Amino acid sequence: MEDCLFCKIIRGEVPSEKVYEDDEILAFKDINPAAPIHILVIPKKHIDSLAQMKKEDEPLMGKIHSVINKIAEEQGVLEKGYRLIVNCGKDSGQEVMHLHFHLLAGQKFGDKIV
Ligand code: AMP
Ligand code: ZN
Repeated sequence: MEDCLFCKIIRGEVPSEKVYEDDEILAFKDINPAAPIHILVIPKKHIDSLAQMKKEDEPLMGKIHSVINKIAEEQGVLEKGYRLIVNCGKDSGQEVMHLHFHLLAGQKFGDKIV
């Protein structure tokens, strides 16, 4: 996926402020934070959106959630709490078509959608 922004970030062609990296997962600060802590957690494997994940991606999805907790702990918000958002597809407003999890924290979130 040569033109994908997040694939370029993974390859180091676009700079990012990394907070976590392993062979399968990358996490970096959102360039336009919507909360005091706003981190994007992405698989290094290009998957357009959650709707495109395959059965074979299930272990990776589990691992991403463990990594999210690890990052939350490092950021000091595992106890206090965080909000996790995945925009999936047109109606959600997903702008970058590379699956990403928004980890939002550092404030109390008032306006719950659900
Ligand atoms: P979404 O609307 O769910 O597709 O979210 C895309 C997110 O990517 C937005 O929160 C943007 O602020 C963020 N974003 C876009 N470009 C960059 C970038 N170069 N580095 C970090 N975050 C970015
Ligand atoms: Zn990509």
